[in-house]
Amino acid sequence: MAAEPDCLFCRIAAGELPATRVDEDDRTITFMDINPATRGHVLVIPREHSKDLLEIDAEDLAAVTRAAQRIAQVMPERLDADGVNLLNSCGRAAWQTVFHFHMHVIPRYDADPLRLPWTPGPGEREAIADAARALEGG
Ligand code: AMP
Ligand code: ZN
Repeated sequence: MAAEPDCLFCRIAAGELPATRVDEDDRTITFMDINPATRGHVLVIPREHSKDLLEIDAEDLAAVTRAAQRIAQVMPERLDADGVNLLNSCGRAAWQTVFHFHMHVIPRYDADPLRLPWTPGPGEREAIADAARALEGG
């Protein structure tokens, strides 16, 4: 299993650093975030090191997504959650601070203090069309 010696989450995956694990499978580990946004905030990581969304192996990404769904599905009953956010940050500009891919699974509660980090408002049609042309075809 490829691991980066200085990577915090590789060290958690290897059992060299402590983490409160709540689920695991062949490809993934799910553990409690030590700075929870809400009660029950967990992180899902691939065992194999990859830096971010742009680099992660597609099979690992699929496995992380399945594990995120598995833990999200128990949050309403076990935590009395009213909803769930999945969050992945890719790159410093997108708030990524740990450079081993991870998916945040954040239970949401009707009265919790989390808010959207942007103010929704209509964009300019030509600017949207221009961005669409740049992205066409994936
Ligand atoms: P991000 O900012 O998206 O890269 O997320 C990194 C997350 O890792 C943050 O929510 C941190 O609270 C969390 N974190 C950092 N160190 C640890 C650790 N040792 N155990 C659990 N979570 C951690
Ligand atoms: Zn790593």
